[in-house]
Amino acid sequence: MSYSQELFETAKQLIPGGVNSPVRAFRSVGQTPRFIKSANGAYLTDEDSIRYLDYVGSWGPMILGHNHPAVKAAVIKAVEDGLSFGAATKSEVEMAQLICDLIPSVDMVRMVNSGTEAVMSAIRLARGYTGKNKIIKFEGCYHGHSDAMLVKAGSGVMTQGVSDSAGVTEGCAVDTLTVPYNDEDTLSQAFEANKGNIAAVIIEPVAANMGVVLPKDGYLQTVRELCDCYQAILIFDEVITGFRLGISGAQGYFGITPDLSVFGKIIGGGMPVGAYGGKKEIMQMIAPLGTVYQAGTLSGNPIAMAAGLAQLKELRDHPAYYTALETTGKTLFSGIASLAEQYGCALTVNSIGSLGCAFFTDQPVRNYTDAKQSDTAKFADYFRFMLDRDIYLAPSQFEAMFVSAAHTKEEINRTLEAVESYLKQK
Ligand code: PLP
Repeated sequence: MSYSQELFETAKQLIPGGVNSPVRAFRSVGQTPRFIKSANGAYLTDEDSIRYLDYVGSWGPMILGHNHPAVKAAVIKAVEDGLSFGAATKSEVEMAQLICDLIPSVDMVRMVNSGTEAVMSAIRLARGYTGKNKIIKFEGCYHGHSDAMLVKAGSGVMTQGVSDSAGVTEGCAVDTLTVPYNDEDTLSQAFEANKGNIAAVIIEPVAANMGVVLPKDGYLQTVRELCDCYQAILIFDEVITGFRLGISGAQGYFGITPDLSVFGKIIGGGMPVGAYGGKKEIMQMIAPLGTVYQAGTLSGNPIAMAAGLAQLKELRDHPAYYTALETTGKTLFSGIASLAEQYGCALTVNSIGSLGCAFFTDQPVRNYTDAKQSDTAKFADYFRFMLDRDIYLAPSQFEAMFVSAAHTKEEINRTLEAVESYLKQK
């Protein structure tokens, strides 16, 4: 038995499912998790000292690769000054300034500790601001695990084979309406059927929790227009896309201005961080200025701010990262697509920049229903094959592949060679 397996046996006695987040349990790929002891650049090393080429990147934050020297140095420096003060700090002001500078739709921003918390707070704010109750979300989009968002959610919820969670009250679920992604008509109908009651629409501008699903041309613009027409707040959940699609996120990439935005992952450089921000007029409703309450003991934690600031400044000061990420992503994802074509395999590759997903289906994937058509048994087989070659993919068909700035041509070539040997033998 490997040391990872031993640890997992013990973990299962102590932690539900042996893990602190469900998808880490490797259940949908019929494997047991590798316990990771360290990471550097594009690589993870497990407790058995096996080194894996990593395409998870801590589920998105590690855009510069693991243990980036600038981020590490900033954290070490911050630790010297103390771990937490529960008081205002200069680094929070710097972080707020940086986010407001880089994201034109954000006039004010509040830091929290996770994407879940940021989404939950943004929704409360949208309700408080509009005085309306209902929220529209999209099937297969994941916005963290707050009650209102666990209705037809993606990510681990999708992998579990359930679309909703037990323990969410009817009262809570009834205010969350879901419509298919990439379908203007159902969205318009939902608005019309709930006229005067929709507080907000929350969307992943690129859906990255049902695999990767791109918005079709003009779709986000239509969502924006419908929100304007029915006076609803448009919330972009940029927890994955923020600072990944470009320095101004998906909103900069697609040229759409949301009212509120939610960030996480990259802005923490690997530390637990989330943030929500937007128009001043709306943000001013948050306590202590306004009547929407939201607080946090560790919010704006100095170590987290140091890590996030270092990573964001590195990205801001070196635009070449994005050009390189684009090229690396393109080489990898178009490489997988051409290999699938060459070997006649039913694979649909969706990608944008450094984000992508190979669905085991020959049909286009434009929404949750399409994504669910993928052959998850085939994905599990492919996952195991890659893991045996020390290539660490997300252990679910419905998660993204994350490329980092530390992935070089050599790593991409090695990955494509492994994909080719897999497809060849099928
Ligand atoms: N929103 C999106 C788009 C996410 O992908 C995630 C997590 O993967 C969240 C929100 C929740 O963030 P967290 O896991 O930090 O609570």
